[in-house]
Amino acid sequence: MHPGRQAYQAPTQTLNGQITFYATPQHVLHTQTMRINAQQPRDILAQLISFDTVSRHSNLAMIDHIANYLADLGVESDIIYDINRQKANLFATLGGPADVPGIVLSGHTDVVPVDGQDWSQDPFTMAERDGKLFGRGTCDMKGFIATCLALAPEIVKAKLREPIHFAFSYDEEVGCRGVSGMIDKISQRNPLPRICIIGEPTSMRVVNAHKGICAYRTTILGREAHSSKTDFGESAIFAAARLVEHLRLTANGLRDGADQSSPFAPPYTTVSVGTLNGGSAINIVPNHCSFDWEYRPLPGEDMDSVLNSLNDFAAEVVLPEMKANFPEAEIRTELIARAPALREEYDSPAEELVKTLTGQNDTYVAAYATEAGLFQDACMSTVVCGPGSIDQAHRPDEYVEISQLNESEAFLRKLVAALSD
Ligand SMILES: [Zn+2]
Repeated sequence: MHPGRQAYQAPTQTLNGQITFYATPQHVLHTQTMRINAQQPRDILAQLISFDTVSRHSNLAMIDHIANYLADLGVESDIIYDINRQKANLFATLGGPADVPGIVLSGHTDVVPVDGQDWSQDPFTMAERDGKLFGRGTCDMKGFIATCLALAPEIVKAKLREPIHFAFSYDEEVGCRGVSGMIDKISQRNPLPRICIIGEPTSMRVVNAHKGICAYRTTILGREAHSSKTDFGESAIFAAARLVEHLRLTANGLRDGADQSSPFAPPYTTVSVGTLNGGSAINIVPNHCSFDWEYRPLPGEDMDSVLNSLNDFAAEVVLPEMKANFPEAEIRTELIARAPALREEYDSPAEELVKTLTGQNDTYVAAYATEAGLFQDACMSTVVCGPGSIDQAHRPDEYVEISQLNESEAFLRKLVAALSD
């Protein structure tokens, strides 16, 4: 059961086409008879939205729901749990011979929080207005997962030359932390899938490159003293200020050295300090300060260069000076999140396939990070292409246009046709 909400009972489906579900937790049970393959993406999306899979909660109820849905189609799911068995990835192979690489369709099951956002409806009950479907995750990115699941009966029925794999992850929104266990598992598959399509919202455009993200918390431990006796203290805030200034200068250097022909906006690796906390009172030399910071490396850039630069400055300059006065002084930097950039591939099979399926010739770059770089680093040709606009993601009254879901459905149907005899 997912926390924070009333129990949602997943639809139970039988092979003879009976489907029974609670549409929302507070609704009464009703039963419909429909053919399994008549499930529309929007019906499936309504079910997925009703699971509160905000990253800090468990996603197991939604994973169970998807696994049951696939099991009714005769498809087995590989559930890859996190260390506490509170969250899981789901990997499933549909159609095609097992000894052929296949195509991965990838999505994340978690969503960003709704705390403090001004929603005009319950974010976890999908609503339809003006050709749009509203709810947390409709755009980012349960809409894509819903179209994958809606097409599953057709995929299973089709005579595919190579399989289609569903790869649904957790904890994407908190730094792409969940997917690695699944990618390790996929990497053991022989043969390895040859292409991965990440269905993040791109308005169904072909995105072949994006920046990465590296986020850290740096903590400084100094010595407390009365502020009139600074010679007895070692200020953690002064040290933090020097480290933050080092990051500012690094950021300026990257900006000033930018290759202006880069398609990215801005065309350089950005560095930002998001929060800084330290000290306890104006008349106490602070013994503690920490700050959270991040950088977003361009594809092809050394992912660790900014981190290494800060670590070197801390170890060679700031810490020795602190230790001269207070030998127990410490500067620690710990990882919050890390996802590599997606690099544009030369002669990319993924790009070629997705361009053919969408009928588009243009490619785009994205400012946001996705799991794509992790799949690419595991030797799968990867692009990002999915329904909905990133402008609607993470916002109150998040929505996806029904026309975008239809495009996603048509895209996947063409993929099935392209892989069929
Ligand atoms: Zn997303």
